[in-house]
Amino acid sequence: MVGATEVTPNIEPFLCGNNFDLGEDGGLKVDDHMHTSLSDIYAAGDICTASWQPSPMWQQMRLWTQARQMGWYAAKCMAAATLGYSIDMDFSFELFAHVTFFNYKVVLPGKYHTWG
Ligand SMILES: Cc1cc2nc3c(=O)[nH]c(=O)nc-3n(C[C@H](O)[C@H](O)[C@H](O)COP(=O)(O)OP(=O)(O)OC[C@H]3O[C@@H](n4cnc5c(N)ncnc54)[C@H](O)[C@@H]3O)c2cc1C
Repeated sequence: MVGATEVTPNIEPFLCGNNFDLGEDGGLKVDDHMHTSLSDIYAAGDICTASWQPSPMWQQMRLWTQARQMGWYAAKCMAAATLGYSIDMDFSFELFAHVTFFNYKVVLPGKYHTWG
């Protein structure tokens, strides 16, 4: 049996006077380029709330796979913004996919939950 519980975004250390827009689940809202509501501040992983219109086959779940994908994509967005390039959303946000730990051969593609 596998059980899981919620992950809560730990935003407290980053508030200290900063007026971030927050998502309903308490994370820092990010747009489709991982940009928060504050200029030049990006967020990725558990701390952020994806606030773009998601693809029908993707949802945010605070898992290591998404933290890695978001971190990688946020770095790409920061570099693009610095260089003045326009980039499209990364394809990893088209389809939800997750791989478990501990060498178990379990891959979860698409919306495997009953909700939605
Ligand atoms: C008990 C538990 C079980 C989980 N099991 C799974 C699982 O089986 N599979 C799965 O995919 N995901 C699992 N997760 C979720 C997964 O661990 C997270 O989604 C993932 O680690 C998020 O990565 P992150 O880089 O966003 O945040 P984190 O991995 O939390 O990294 C944040 C880092 O920031 C550091 N930090 C915090 N505050 C400060 C500060 N003020 N200054 C500097 N550094 C700071 C922290 O020390 C930490 O190293 C689990 C989470 C928990 C809590």
